[in-house]
Amino acid sequence: MLKLDQVSVRYGSTIGVERVSLHVREGELVTLIGANGAGKSTTLRAINGLEPLASGTIRFDGHLVSGATPAAIIELGISHCPEGRRVFPQLTVRENLEMGAYRRTDRQRARDDMERLLDKFPRLRERIKQTAGTLSGGEQQMLAIARALMSRPRLVMFDEPSLGLAPNFVEMIFDLILEIRREGVTVLMVEQNAYAALEMCDRAYLLENGRIVKDGTASEMLADPAIRRAYLGG
Ligand code: ATP
Repeated sequence: MLKLDQVSVRYGSTIGVERVSLHVREGELVTLIGANGAGKSTTLRAINGLEPLASGTIRFDGHLVSGATPAAIIELGISHCPEGRRVFPQLTVRENLEMGAYRRTDRQRARDDMERLLDKFPRLRERIKQTAGTLSGGEQQMLAIARALMSRPRLVMFDEPSLGLAPNFVEMIFDLILEIRREGVTVLMVEQNAYAALEMCDRAYLLENGRIVKDGTASEMLADPAIRRAYLGG
């Protein structure tokens, strides 16, 4: 479904990622793990059209995505739930959700989708008229997830969905991601909590200094002695 071939991104003379090749099959939950600065966010931003490629190609369902605008990429069916939640703090919960559907022309179906999402996220329904900046961190993360689903994506990318959340919210957010995947949406996720990520994914890629140094099924990665030492606390 998604295929990156030898993708490089540079920030001036700094390497963001170097020759990253990876793929995600339809229906899979794939995670990128690695230390801070390894290039995980850069990989997602490249897929979204937010970073120009220094080299390489990105294809989604065979369509060339590299070089397309972020809006065109959303229309192809890729959605991004960015790091740090990035909801619009001055807008209400409803307005934030509407922003997630701004490219859609099927307004009635978009309204129906919002209702379904509000059934799934009752805390958001209770706070529908509140401005997003007044929500707790976990609620903002829920809003960011719901907003990312408002474009009816086939592939959704989560960047550090558990960052900064209380443990009970972390569990709730991971359950939501698993549920989204059960409903048929393909997921590519970046997580600093490597153990939780490997527990819930099908396959994973390990990034170090902008390069993919290892990949495998979740159980292969969990059993790998070097990964256990460096990322899973031994
Ligand atoms: P983190 O978990 O800290 O976000 P990451 O694995 O997502 O880490 P990236 O944010 O993708 O890593 O960063 C990869 C490299 O690119 C790092 O060396 C980082 O300093 C650099 N980098 C990222 N964004 C920029 C930017 N806007 N300008 C300059 N350098 C950047």
